[in-house]
Amino acid sequence: MGLSKTIWTNPSEYLRTIQPETPVLFFSPAALQAAARRFIDGFPGMVTYAVKSNPEEVVIENFSAAGVRGYDVASPFEMRMIRRLAPDAALHYNNPVRARHEIATAVELGVKSYSVDSHSELAKLIEMVPADGCEISVRFKLPVSGAAYNFGAKFGATAEVATELLKTVAAAGFIPSITFHPGTQCTDPAAWESYIRTAADIARDAGVTIARLNVGGGFPSHRLNGVLPQIEETFALIDRVATEAFGENRPMLVCEPGRALCGDAFTLAARVKAVRDDNHVFLNDGVYGSLAELPLIGVIDRTEVLTPAGVKRAGDKADRIIFGPTCDSVDRLPGEVALSAEIEEGDFVVFQGMGAYSTVTNSRFNGFGELSLATVLSLKL
Ligand SMILES: *Cc1c(COP(=O)(O)O)cnc(C)c1O
Repeated sequence: MGLSKTIWTNPSEYLRTIQPETPVLFFSPAALQAAARRFIDGFPGMVTYAVKSNPEEVVIENFSAAGVRGYDVASPFEMRMIRRLAPDAALHYNNPVRARHEIATAVELGVKSYSVDSHSELAKLIEMVPADGCEISVRFKLPVSGAAYNFGAKFGATAEVATELLKTVAAAGFIPSITFHPGTQCTDPAAWESYIRTAADIARDAGVTIARLNVGGGFPSHRLNGVLPQIEETFALIDRVATEAFGENRPMLVCEPGRALCGDAFTLAARVKAVRDDNHVFLNDGVYGSLAELPLIGVIDRTEVLTPAGVKRAGDKADRIIFGPTCDSVDRLPGEVALSAEIEEGDFVVFQGMGAYSTVTNSRFNGFGELSLATVLSLKL
């Protein structure tokens, strides 16, 4: 008799012991809490977590334990989950388009912060949400680059419309604020500078002193070997530019990262089903599973190949086409991926930095997508 092992030392120990035939996401609570503390200690304002990037309950519980006190939610489901797991946390309902029944649920659950990017949606909020002590943030967009893809294609008012919206928010008795999202995996800190300066212009043109400025998510996680995210430098830039742009009207700052808080706390191991005629690699996970994001924002090159015994395959790398397990031909990782030339059937391909937009986009298409979660003390192989 012995205690069953539920926390593993590292991914290799799990892989060689369990020999999993389904993809596994390894979760390091220590890495997740360290990411939260990095933001809480470094960001010059309130740190909230964008729930959509990874809504696993263990993730929310660990953020809560690490001191995260606010959550960016987009749906009644996310609101109820946070109310259950972190009852005292602030809910920021920052999906700017809402059905009336969703607004009614938010009011019922005591949501005190909403974002908006259009006159029609603002009219709904004014009609349905009691103004007293409640914040409405106007979301605007700029045509700036730096992110992996453009969030402005769906949400965000132009600066002109944002100015009008901000006047209306203030006149209706709500707490006026401004918000933006520079786009996900934004590796260029200059994007925040343009946004913050424009936010100050919008407030000035509207003649409104804003209470808070939400500088979004978009902070990068570590996806490429040679490119370490310079988060502290971005924090310092945000702090400096907020003071320069707003002067004595400097608002309180809020951020709502998803990827940068959860991305590096998870590592994926997918098994090699086949190396077809010594050429294409077929994995048991793909773009309909937890690798859904790769065709959208590019591959993660923080990969290793492990033998079934959990030992790293060294030696030269060779570029391979990698397919996922479904019969759909788009189920393929973008481009070619450099993997150990010695890769064999039964090996594991390990992708680090897989915590964001992975568990939650995993589907059961074609009967695949059975994804396991294993807790580890360390993600070091
Ligand atoms: C998705 C989203 C975020 C998180 O974005 P990341 O790029 O993961 O940091 C933050 N705020 C809003 C409104 C979002 O929709």
